[in-house]
Amino acid sequence: MEPLDRSTIWPYREGEPGELYYQRYAHPNGVAAEQALGELEGGEALLFPSGAGATTALVLGLLEPGQTIGLAEGGYYGTGRLFAALGRWGVRYVEFDQTGPPPDGVDLLWLEAPSNPFLTMPDLEAAAAHPARVVVDSTASTPVYLRPLEHGADFALHSATKFLGGHHDVLLGAVVCRAAEDAARLAEFRGSAGIVAAPDPCWLLSRSLKTLPVRMERHTATATQLAERLSAHPAVEIVRYPGFGGLLSFDVANGEAATRVETSLAKIKNATSLGGVESVLESRTRWEGDRVPAGLLRLSVGLEDADELWRDLEQALG
Ligand code: PLP
Repeated sequence: MEPLDRSTIWPYREGEPGELYYQRYAHPNGVAAEQALGELEGGEALLFPSGAGATTALVLGLLEPGQTIGLAEGGYYGTGRLFAALGRWGVRYVEFDQTGPPPDGVDLLWLEAPSNPFLTMPDLEAAAAHPARVVVDSTASTPVYLRPLEHGADFALHSATKFLGGHHDVLLGAVVCRAAEDAARLAEFRGSAGIVAAPDPCWLLSRSLKTLPVRMERHTATATQLAERLSAHPAVEIVRYPGFGGLLSFDVANGEAATRVETSLAKIKNATSLGGVESVLESRTRWEGDRVPAGLLRLSVGLEDADELWRDLEQALG
């Protein structure tokens, strides 16, 4: 591992700033992690202090007031909330079903692969054929299962807090750009706005990326088993799982039944977020209200033993 460097300044050379001079513009641990992620995605990566920070920077840095975003419905609820808040600055958004063709009249398509918590996959071909530029939030796919830039997307976006970081100990976001001009424009905006990732989380991300493919393989193997077993359980009405990755959701009868499952778990943590080595489960209505079924439970499958996880789910389902 490269050393952790928390310096905020580097001396000028012969009176001129070098590549590194002030941490807000670039720092060694950020550059190293961006290079590793850029290689995995096949583009130019920029890191931000959170996934939401990455979204904010992309919208404010690259859109004009009055432009409209076509947002995948059923995706991460925080993204829609953020776009609503940015409405004060003239950003508009409309939601659409990302499994079909995008609507006319939008300037940027915002897809989620797969959506959280409904686990739908976008029609990437239809999006690429649309004149708008395309962002794919591929937080739950990771570059192990999807490299959006190879499917015509202009940007891949991550909450690196999830599978990329992978240990519930890093808050980070990333935008990976296909075009060098977009990366330069966004980097300039990031430096001016100060929406920058600190060295410590970048160092942790570099560590985590080394194990990403192995972790994702295990997340998938266990999640596939659990999705099958949940589908066959009489208390489970529907299971949503795209066939890869560690994120799935399933419905029990109602809100009461969901609370019972949440509070009966012994091994799986009743907590928010996803993508870590430890499994977490939560009812999503507490955050999303009636945008989701009252009985919807989101499960992020960790790296624990699959049979142990199933025993825990089975006893909690009753
Ligand atoms: N995108 C997706 C798909 C997410 O699930 C989340 C957070 O849950 C975000 C973006 C926002 O990321 P962060 O929490 O790192 O700001």
